[in-house]
Amino acid sequence: MAHSDRSYPPTAQQILKQYFGFDQFRPHQFEIIQAINRQQDVLAVMPTGSGKSLCFQIPALMQPGTTLVISPLIALMKDQVNHLLIKSISAGLLTSAMTQTQQEENLSLFRLHKFKLFYVSPERLKSRKFLQASLKADIRRLIIDEAHCISEWGNDFRPSYRRISQFVTFLKLHKKSTGGKNQRLSLAAFTATATSRTQTEIIHNLQLKNPQKFVLSLIRTNLRMQIIHVTSLFYKNLYLLRLVKKHQHQNGIIYVYSRQSAQDIYYLIKKFLPTIKTNYYHAGLKKAERNHRERLFMHGEIQLLIATNAFGMGIDKANIRYVIHYQPSPSLENYYQEIGRAGRDGQPATVYLLHYPADWFIHQTFIHQQHMTEQQKKIKINKLKNMFYFVKNNRCRTQMIGQYFSQPVSQPCGQCDVCLHQTDRTKFSFITDQEKQFRQQLIEQRRRLAQKLKISPTQIATNHLLEQIAFLQPKTGTDLLQLAGVGQGNIQLISQLVASSVTETGSQS
Ligand code: ADP
Ligand code: MG
Repeated sequence: MAHSDRSYPPTAQQILKQYFGFDQFRPHQFEIIQAINRQQDVLAVMPTGSGKSLCFQIPALMQPGTTLVISPLIALMKDQVNHLLIKSISAGLLTSAMTQTQQEENLSLFRLHKFKLFYVSPERLKSRKFLQASLKADIRRLIIDEAHCISEWGNDFRPSYRRISQFVTFLKLHKKSTGGKNQRLSLAAFTATATSRTQTEIIHNLQLKNPQKFVLSLIRTNLRMQIIHVTSLFYKNLYLLRLVKKHQHQNGIIYVYSRQSAQDIYYLIKKFLPTIKTNYYHAGLKKAERNHRERLFMHGEIQLLIATNAFGMGIDKANIRYVIHYQPSPSLENYYQEIGRAGRDGQPATVYLLHYPADWFIHQTFIHQQHMTEQQKKIKINKLKNMFYFVKNNRCRTQMIGQYFSQPVSQPCGQCDVCLHQTDRTKFSFITDQEKQFRQQLIEQRRRLAQKLKISPTQIATNHLLEQIAFLQPKTGTDLLQLAGVGQGNIQLISQLVASSVTETGSQS
């Protein structure tokens, strides 16, 4: 460890500066570091992006022994270990993605007390090899990252997280029998979203001893929540395209509920907004491909990622300016975590939820199809109901979130669709003036044409179609043929309509 002789050992503040290059702690970081240094058990509930990793990485550097970190995803482990290695901090990991030799190597370094931080998945805790190594290793602190995975009531229940408590008992028994001095094993659990019920479950399950609790309000004041109610899938796609166009120069994520819709939306955007650099991400893709797309997104070569909830846990990209939910999430925990990926730099970000009533059936059907106990189904249905009330109720969105997560927010946020009284108007609030003008022209020309041909205007073109034309501004016959409702039979008529409207408005670019 590099240090100046005058101040050794370095303080937490100095490590923050020397290793991580930051001048100031963020809220709670210093207090958590102190608690861990005192060997006190900790439960920290702090929103995504608030800097939870430093809270255990710094004590790991200040204290003797190894800090073992349980983390749910390989991508998360790799990301953190790489960050630490760059800073010359001895960190390692054990994942199924490594070769056998690499695994053996890291396991033996772990056994020989060479790592300050060692990362493993919860599944690893059942491996005999790992258990044997951990008895030889010098584990002083156990960190449970994304600890809500322990809770059945949390949104990402992961049965193997339940093994952690067995592992703790195993280690503690061993420590007792070898009688190490000052060798208390301290535990610290970190999560971004946990209702008070989930918090209680974490504490009980891990048997945290007198844990010091740190809860940082997860209410992010820089997120503008907008729910857009649509009456058909057609409008949903149209608004989706509008929103993407509006944010075309920014980074964003579209969350969809199924792998199929991830691909469908991808092709939709490719077709109508071909300049957007986009791709999709879901668990059905090969791991290498997923990692590749994630990297491209992290580095800005993909600006819009269309993803299922397989994407995102722990993702740390600062400048995501918008998130669009193509369907409501199955729970408010999921929803809040997903929108929390926007605006991590603290700058304003807008998050949209496109709500089409039939979406709820898809969720319900999905829950009923899954192999779960009745109790688990009941939990899921209950969560879905809470999501439903959130979407349907006309109360400040931020206040509703606060209430759900037991963190009451005293004032309405003043920037969500409810506060802005936009619940009915949002639909049209992002149409450009030029589009509006063009649409008016189309309507007018349709009327004239209808009179001339002595048929009703909607026989020439439906309002849907005019809206598509106004938004997409097709330039050629081929463009027109892409639109739903235009075929060889009516292409001439529609071309005529568009051409006359263009000459009237004098512009179409
Ligand atoms: P979380 O696990 O809470 O989602 P991370 O630990 O991934 O958050 O940290 C989010 C980002 O904040 C990282 O880029 C990290 O380097 C940065 N960060 C953490 N602490 C500080 C700090 N005190 N000052 C500035 N940036 C910080
Ligand atoms: Mg984290």
